[in-house]
Amino acid sequence: MKLIDLHVHSTASDGSYSPEEVVRLAAARGLRAISLTDHDTIDGVAEAAAAGEALGVEVIPGVEISARFPGGSMHILGYFVDYHSGLLDARLAVLKKSRADRNPRIVAKLNALGAKITMEQVEKISGGGQVGRPHIARALLEHGYVRDIQEAFDRYLRNGGPAHVSKFRFPPDEAINMIREAQGIPVLSHPFTLGLGSAYALKNLLQDLKKLGLAGLEVYYPEHTPEQEARYLKLARELDLLITGGSDFHGANKPEVDLGQCPCQKNLTYPLVEALKAWRRQEYGLDEA
Ligand SMILES: [Zn+2]
Ligand SMILES: [Zn+2]
Repeated sequence: MKLIDLHVHSTASDGSYSPEEVVRLAAARGLRAISLTDHDTIDGVAEAAAAGEALGVEVIPGVEISARFPGGSMHILGYFVDYHSGLLDARLAVLKKSRADRNPRIVAKLNALGAKITMEQVEKISGGGQVGRPHIARALLEHGYVRDIQEAFDRYLRNGGPAHVSKFRFPPDEAINMIREAQGIPVLSHPFTLGLGSAYALKNLLQDLKKLGLAGLEVYYPEHTPEQEARYLKLARELDLLITGGSDFHGANKPEVDLGQCPCQKNLTYPLVEALKAWRRQEYGLDEA
């Protein structure tokens, strides 16, 4: 069996393992290939690729971009992105900057509400990776402003809450375009988080996204029910979309999923990677992925 995991996060975004540690774990689990798909960044890819060379795990350069989608959350995976050219880095820098601006704005709102935490405290908690609301929540907890993380979100940090600052997101077409500019393969992540009411609505959306350049659908995912999985598989086949899947591993930051261990794991085998490579060769006229 040549098992794979095409949805993996590291400390380059909000995972708890460094890119090298993730690859080490993949090697220990006997995985043939993984894709490092950190949120809005390819900063961890070079380290993971080097570790993959050393350990005999194929590391597919990837990213997971959050796109603007009112009413739900739309994530777009990019596989086999060129991480050497600097093109994608330059596009993603906009998100990095807006994220960097966002945290101090949240902290300022908290300070105005009487919760006197500082950015230094928050950064220390993050341990050097991407800083976000979970770290701010932990700072509130550690300094006695809330009794637990849930209260930090309920009272202050939830969307629309008194300390909320909205995130900048690219519209879906831009997210798809920047992946394609980097000769990558755009794939819609975990479709259920879009919050669409019906299978019909999802089919329509996928047709629209395909016109914009979407190439695949994440069918296999730990939180998909067997019914959802069957529906997504059928849609992918009907619309001629590539099929992908993965655990969405975040290490200790999402302890309920483990690397290469999702219930859908039996379907996560190397032919999915071969199909991605074949698509990419044909689409971009490349010799090797
Ligand atoms: Zn996601
Ligand atoms: Zn993810």
